[in-house]
Amino acid sequence: MSTSPTSASPIHVIGGGLAGSEAAWQIAQAGVPVVLHEMRRHEPSGPVLTDAHQTDGLAEMVCSNSFRSDDWQFNAVGLLHAEMRKLDSLIMSAADQHQVPAGGALAVDRDGFSAEVTRRIQAHPLITIVREEIAGLPPAEWDNVVVATGPLTSPALADAILELSGEGQLSFFDAIAPIIHVESIDMDVAWRQSRYDKEGPGGDAAAYINCPMNKDQYEAFIDALLDGPKAEFKDWEHVPYFDGCLPIEVMAERGRETLRHGPMKPVGLTNPRDPTVKSYAIVQLRQDNALGTLWNMVGFQTKLKHGAQAEVFRMIPGLENAQFARLGGLHRNTFINSPRLLDRSLRMRLAPRLRFAGQMTGVEGYVESAATGLLAGRFAAAERLGRTLDAPPPTTALGALVDHVTGGHLEAEGKTTFQPMNINYGLLPPLEAPKVDEEGKKIPLKERGRAKKRLMSVRALKDLDAWTAGAA
Ligand SMILES: Cc1cc2nc3c(=O)[nH]c(=O)nc-3n(C[C@H](O)[C@H](O)[C@H](O)COP(=O)(O)OP(=O)(O)OC[C@H]3O[C@@H](n4cnc5c(N)ncnc54)[C@H](O)[C@@H]3O)c2cc1C
Repeated sequence: MSTSPTSASPIHVIGGGLAGSEAAWQIAQAGVPVVLHEMRRHEPSGPVLTDAHQTDGLAEMVCSNSFRSDDWQFNAVGLLHAEMRKLDSLIMSAADQHQVPAGGALAVDRDGFSAEVTRRIQAHPLITIVREEIAGLPPAEWDNVVVATGPLTSPALADAILELSGEGQLSFFDAIAPIIHVESIDMDVAWRQSRYDKEGPGGDAAAYINCPMNKDQYEAFIDALLDGPKAEFKDWEHVPYFDGCLPIEVMAERGRETLRHGPMKPVGLTNPRDPTVKSYAIVQLRQDNALGTLWNMVGFQTKLKHGAQAEVFRMIPGLENAQFARLGGLHRNTFINSPRLLDRSLRMRLAPRLRFAGQMTGVEGYVESAATGLLAGRFAAAERLGRTLDAPPPTTALGALVDHVTGGHLEAEGKTTFQPMNINYGLLPPLEAPKVDEEGKKIPLKERGRAKKRLMSVRALKDLDAWTAGAA
């Protein structure tokens, strides 16, 4: 990208968190002026903060100080780091500069990191920081805006976005059921069938994967759910439970039979391995992404702690070796229904002057938020400069994130399955697991999954280079 300044009118970025700081940096590095609006500030009457932020520093990390694995070859978030470094990411550069020892993870000194991002944004000649809340839709004369106000978007702005986008298009909580890599499900135990063999709109009468339980297995599972450690809510985080969306452990607390009459009901399903035996309960999984690589556990939103979830859910027959792309959770969050609302340049279809970035788009995590900020910044700058910039290909981690938020999910029974997601290999088009290595040596069966990840990472970086060359 060019760094010579233009006389273009400024792009406005709302929110100086992980996504907004990266977006502002990318726009300015393209030579376009930016005004960055951040509401956190110190007033004579005291600090103005959010419920989670504790400082007025840009890119404050509100909880953990980790950007997770830095291994680009075998870990999807490590791959995302590598891609962002190739694209002059401010967040990655500040993180590299302020890292603290954390084994294979990239963890940072959070104060040093935030101070570094703040210093570099403040020092950039094309960036102006304005400490103010944008308490409604941005003024009409702002023709190119990136909204990156995060999971704790101020209520006045969230209400305005809800009104603009329509009923049901903005969520204030995520209610997440675990998602599993399909190849880790034991199909010698599970089987494909829709309840009562009902055909969906796509004509598929075998749309679900079913995992059967007998009475003993069900009772043991309920005990484990009731005993498992649950995550605590902070006061401001409290999720208003509504009946369609209760955590499974809350359902189990209401009665040992509740789940058997709810998400685990066995009716209308026949185990083809022994049609004469009726299952006592059945856990269903539904396809989660268009690629068919990820399947979610239907109705299994949960507040069980992550460590306990893997242990408890692997008690389910067929899921003994399940690999989780995402574990379940319920959090305070603010995110829009991006697959309906955004195009592939993260622009709002019904108000194209607005682009979204960060957790608001339905990505999850510091790195993913910064990654969408990086792309939104580049898209916004290209538009201002009269250029077209396509999203990176879906074989890259960056492109896969764009695809996830703008359309890689599925619609089921009139409802979207769209829920926030971290980057993972299941979001990238799959490759055959290699049987031999680069020197032609046979790869043992148990190492082929790892070898496949490496091949996907190598493909991603090569395709990103080709995209960058085409975009220059
Ligand atoms: C309690 C909590 C704990 C979390 N823990 C983790 C974790 O451990 N690891 C992880 O990877 N992710 C975690 N997350 C998710 C995390 O918030 C995101 O990963 C990341 O911060 C999102 O980046 P963002 O830029 O979208 O939002 P943020 O980083 O939150 O930035 C949004 C910015 O917008 C500002 N803003 C809001 N409304 C307005 C307005 N109207 N006008 C102007 N400015 C505004 C805010 O002050 C904020 O600075 C956590 C989230 C929460 C709520």
